Amino acid sequence: MDKKDVIKKALELGFADVGFTTMEPFESQKDILNSRKEEYAWVFEKGINLKKGLDPKNIMPNGKSIIVLIDLYFKEAFPNVLEGHFGRAYLDDDRIIRSHLSKRFKAFRGFLRDNNIESKAPFNIPHRLTAARAGLGTFGKNNFLYSNKVALQSSCLSPIPIIVNYEFEPDEPTVEVGCPKWCKSTCIASCPTGALRAPNTIDPRKCISYLSYYQEEITPLEIREQVGTWVYGCDRCQEVCPRNRAWLSQDLPINERVLAKSKDFELSNLLHMDLKFYQSKIWPHMFYMPFNETWRWKMNAARAMGNTLDPKYIPDLVRAFDENEDEKVKGMISWSLGRLGREESKIALESFLLKSNGKVREEILLALKQF
Ligand code: SF4
Ligand code: SF4
Repeated sequence: MDKKDVIKKALELGFADVGFTTMEPFESQKDILNSRKEEYAWVFEKGINLKKGLDPKNIMPNGKSIIVLIDLYFKEAFPNVLEGHFGRAYLDDDRIIRSHLSKRFKAFRGFLRDNNIESKAPFNIPHRLTAARAGLGTFGKNNFLYSNKVALQSSCLSPIPIIVNYEFEPDEPTVEVGCPKWCKSTCIASCPTGALRAPNTIDPRKCISYLSYYQEEITPLEIREQVGTWVYGCDRCQEVCPRNRAWLSQDLPINERVLAKSKDFELSNLLHMDLKFYQSKIWPHMFYMPFNETWRWKMNAARAMGNTLDPKYIPDLVRAFDENEDEKVKGMISWSLGRLGREESKIALESFLLKSNGKVREEILLALKQF
């Protein structure tokens, strides 16, 4: 068995690129985690042990090499309306339903097993850094990995590392920032919340992606407008990047799988959904929020409705106020009605005021100041 056999099999299975690296610990990442403990504390609170993944030997003591597969998640177009609300990487995510990528990945591991190679696919080793060390791409100042060879050198890719107990010759690392000198750091200037505050330096607690799935409180007033129409994830710093222009300009065929479920992901359906709908229609595709946290989905949908500035959502927001008990959802509905304006919003807010108190009442009073 040599690298050529592995590469041939991976390409046959539809992966776009393959690289190989050593079992060396990821020292640079260790330094980052140690120097920015506060910003990353939430990761550990969520039970994700990133430190363990910094030394691949912790995951597979008899490991000898790491194979990195590159999969392209954006080979087909997604409906425009979904791209405005959801990160593209999540739109055809099959980690729960195991309908396509998972099958190819399983077949690849089966191939390794048939050749007497044990493998482990850890979720907590630094995927992008592993791929760069395997010579598959360079970094953007937005921290994304840009391919050296495939996807028109864009960042529309997912690196998948696999630790194996078989030694392969490592590829030449390309762990560096590969941005053209003429780019004036558009990604940093465009980050709506200032999460990307300097080249390759992000405060995850301010990143819209993080906020969309993990924030425990109502979105702070000072960033509600900036979060815009995002509901789950954020692609802004990739969309503005000139390194992605060629890939994003392609005329791609529509992804039928995603088109088929797009109605379920309409903002109105998210705002009014019950637990059964969430469990059967949404969670199998976007699963970062547990079943008892649908309030966050609803808050995000309500905020996005307000930020569309489209008055067609006023009746939905008014109806959802009484459907929901959660004060964060009610508060965001009030804010969005204030943002959308119009007489019918004002009348609804005045009626909500009569039956509300505490934080919800404060939000309603704030919203009424918009009129
Ligand atoms: S926007 Fe510019 S600086 Fe940012 S990742 Fe793209 S090329 Fe690099
Ligand atoms: S994903 Fe969005 S919020 Fe996060 S750093 Fe990029 S532009 Fe900023």
